[in-house]
Amino acid sequence: MKYVSTRGTAPELSFEEAMLTGLARDGGLYVPAEVPTLSRDDIASLAGQSYEQVAFTVMRPFIGEEFSDRELSACIRHAYAGFGHAVRAPLVQLGANHFLLELFHGPTLAFKDFAMQLIGQLFQAALEKRGQKVTIVGATSGDTGSAAIEAFRGLDNVDVFILFPDGRVSDVQRRQMTTPVEGNVHALAVDGDFDDCQARLKDMFNHFEFRDAVGLAGVNSINWARVLAQVVYYFTSAVALGAPHREVSFTVPTGNFGDIFAGYIAKQMGLPIRDLVIATNQNDILHRTLETGAYTKAGVTPSISPSMDIQVSSNFERALFDAYGRDGAVVAEQMAELAGGGFTISQGAIDFLRGVFKSGRASEHETMETIKETWEATGEVICPHTAVGVKVANEHLSDVPMITLATAHPAKFPDAVKKACGRDAALPPRMSDLFDREERVTRVPNDLTALETLILNERRA
Ligand SMILES: *Cc1c(COP(=O)(O)O)cnc(C)c1O
Repeated sequence: MKYVSTRGTAPELSFEEAMLTGLARDGGLYVPAEVPTLSRDDIASLAGQSYEQVAFTVMRPFIGEEFSDRELSACIRHAYAGFGHAVRAPLVQLGANHFLLELFHGPTLAFKDFAMQLIGQLFQAALEKRGQKVTIVGATSGDTGSAAIEAFRGLDNVDVFILFPDGRVSDVQRRQMTTPVEGNVHALAVDGDFDDCQARLKDMFNHFEFRDAVGLAGVNSINWARVLAQVVYYFTSAVALGAPHREVSFTVPTGNFGDIFAGYIAKQMGLPIRDLVIATNQNDILHRTLETGAYTKAGVTPSISPSMDIQVSSNFERALFDAYGRDGAVVAEQMAELAGGGFTISQGAIDFLRGVFKSGRASEHETMETIKETWEATGEVICPHTAVGVKVANEHLSDVPMITLATAHPAKFPDAVKKACGRDAALPPRMSDLFDREERVTRVPNDLTALETLILNERRA
């Protein structure tokens, strides 16, 4: 299996190379040269299998010879062993034809664990064979950083440094980053905001001397291996509700477009998905784009679903690549225009996108109302991101089952839940001592040299 860049000029890479590289050298994102398919019989045979077995069948054709069957199985097994639910991604019924897919039973209580836990195992296996070590540096507004720290803690060939804006993440999110005891993970509280953290990270990647000295690597949401890991739960949930004999639809709370793009891949592989619905909060660039055909930046307004507060949606480029018939030159041109504020999508390409995706948005008020109404109608307490999905899904119900992705545990966002339902969302028992654990955090100035010096001194390799 070969991977090509969405901008058409970077070298083709294997799965392992694409995973270790992240962003392509031409600034594009890696996608499979062609998407493998599963037959109707293949899909039917997934019924009744464990999450891990389905994960193997779905991901195997995308992963080259660099991982043997045995290695891949072991990575999958270790990745999901720490989840708090035996089926990993259970379904809960909300209405006659509406289901929630609970993706928050991983160690940091958000769906990012599905991809991050697996990528941690795959990185370690690949680096061990190559005799390499890397330093992963990431910037986070909360969920990504804690998922990365949980995934890479204790791994021999990886050091992890996560930059987060001091005082601007929730207590649960901060404690998830600062309480792991392993020496290879470091939570750095930056004297600045999230944009400062991201800017310093970008500076490090552009400082080639430092980049090479520490073997800098990134695991942000454009990494293809993360998208691939997320394809699996589309299969497990659809099959549980009758696929391939019955169609299903999905609604996905969306920010950077990684999770919903995984659904698009599942559909291309042959899973009978009728509708793929994008649900955005008030930061609605994706919904506006589908409505108007213009992809235009509009600044970010902070919301109660902060993991979806984005100005531009990085993985959207992958869908655009297909919409333009895989013409990397056109994608590169449009992305260049984005620097000036936005671009207009051609009629053919927007028709393609509207054929694949539907969309909707939820205001802050609608999000709060949905948390309250869902709690009153079903007794299910949902997080604000999930509520954005449920609100939009309710506008797209049909005669096939609708599956809304529940992307985070309500206890991660206790303030919104308390305000909407008047009750506390409790942490799961395995995490109930989070607030008793000792924190370990380094405060750092918003300064490139200071950050680089700290990383050079603290990493083990
Ligand atoms: C990251 C995140 C999202 C958005 O996912 P994308 O793949 O960026 O679209 C939604 N909900 C939660 C809780 C998240 O952490």
